[in-house]
Amino acid sequence: MLKLAIKPAPLDDECPVSYALRAALNNGYLYITSMIRPSQVNRLSKLHHSGAHVIDEVISFDSTFVDAHINNPLCKYNLAIEPKVCIECIQESQLVTNKHQSLFSFFCQKHHIPLIDTCPACNERLTWELPLLLGCCTTPTCGLRLTNKPNPTLPTTLSKEGISDCLLAGYFLSTQDCLHLKQVKWLKNSSHLELIENGYNFLTKKALTKAWQDAQITKYSPFYPMSFSTISTQLLVQSLNYLSWPAIPALITKKKNLTKEHSITPRILTTAGIAKELLSVKLFELRALHESGIITIKDKSRLASSTPIELSNLFVHLSQHKVIPAMRELSKQLDILTYHDISMTELLIALVSGKLASGYQPSVNLLSSIFVTPKNLKDFAKQTFKDKRGNKITLDKAIALTGLSGKELTKLRNANVLKKPDWYRPSCKHFCIFEDIIKLRNLPQYHQLTLKL
Ligand SMILES: [Zn+2]
Ligand SMILES: [Zn+2]
Repeated sequence: MLKLAIKPAPLDDECPVSYALRAALNNGYLYITSMIRPSQVNRLSKLHHSGAHVIDEVISFDSTFVDAHINNPLCKYNLAIEPKVCIECIQESQLVTNKHQSLFSFFCQKHHIPLIDTCPACNERLTWELPLLLGCCTTPTCGLRLTNKPNPTLPTTLSKEGISDCLLAGYFLSTQDCLHLKQVKWLKNSSHLELIENGYNFLTKKALTKAWQDAQITKYSPFYPMSFSTISTQLLVQSLNYLSWPAIPALITKKKNLTKEHSITPRILTTAGIAKELLSVKLFELRALHESGIITIKDKSRLASSTPIELSNLFVHLSQHKVIPAMRELSKQLDILTYHDISMTELLIALVSGKLASGYQPSVNLLSSIFVTPKNLKDFAKQTFKDKRGNKITLDKAIALTGLSGKELTKLRNANVLKKPDWYRPSCKHFCIFEDIIKLRNLPQYHQLTLKL
């Protein structure tokens, strides 16, 4: 069992692992790992008890500073497990505070200077080693005295949600082709402070944002519809806390230009939240698409906006057929789908199964990249509509199918032209019987019907 000759009193807001370093230093150890095991250092850095009683009993494991209320898409715990330090706190009292270990801290409120998490000389990440408390770089080949970072660029008035946004934007900048996000427990490795600073510049300087987006678009494969070239941008914008950043308008401007030919289908792994937008389907419909082999849900146990989805299969199928002259783009024939109550999911399944012949030519978005002949589409829609045996439909759907207003439909119901569903109660005004709606639509000049009532 670890015993210490000198047990220093903990300092105000001293973080557990910083206390352990100071105890090792005061007891003449050369390395923290000569006093406790690396796994114990690791535990302390995560605010867990180390198992070394002599340390655990004196320090506080209070974690209220961690800002658990801020949902950060990159990691579950908003706590840096590698050191982030204020040089003056260290020089004054050999102290690394809990507060500074929050993922969203970037300057010391006491000394009004920026924190550092890498050595300004060798640029290596600082680690929990004894030289840290002596104000020196922890990389053995460097070991130089740590110095302050000149010219802070971040305004100290940034809110924590704002810093979380900067961190995320910095992550996107540093990650090649970020098409989906996976929330890990702890954010490791690269300098968090550098990510925050780069992210801040990115979100506030329009020129940088535009350059990044242009690079994304050049990299993307013209095999996919144009809307797929901005998956990274869409994902970033969806994941931000604030949409008031100066760069946002530049990010959400749509671009049009398609030139290159491409024969291979690169894999596209993105999140369900983005996939449903790109395919114009509802989140729950992704399951049906998965079962038909059109997309692949990577985590089948759970379907949420963040679930990873692989989309390339759909395009492997679609691209087997070229556009023929009689075909028109689907985006110009959507009224046929609406009229016959056909969802995009039903249509995609029909296309991939060969029930409906189609051609593919990448354009602005998916709907404008799929081509079908109006006759085939109409025949397919009519048949599918006929085969449907759903009894009750919502009033909203009835409005879409008939082109009548809610008021007119209610009038028809009161006149008993539209029957009430069996289980009708006055509180359930929002349902009609599907067959009635079809009959109504088949009546000649049904628009005049409501006028007579
Ligand atoms: Zn300080
Ligand atoms: Zn160094």
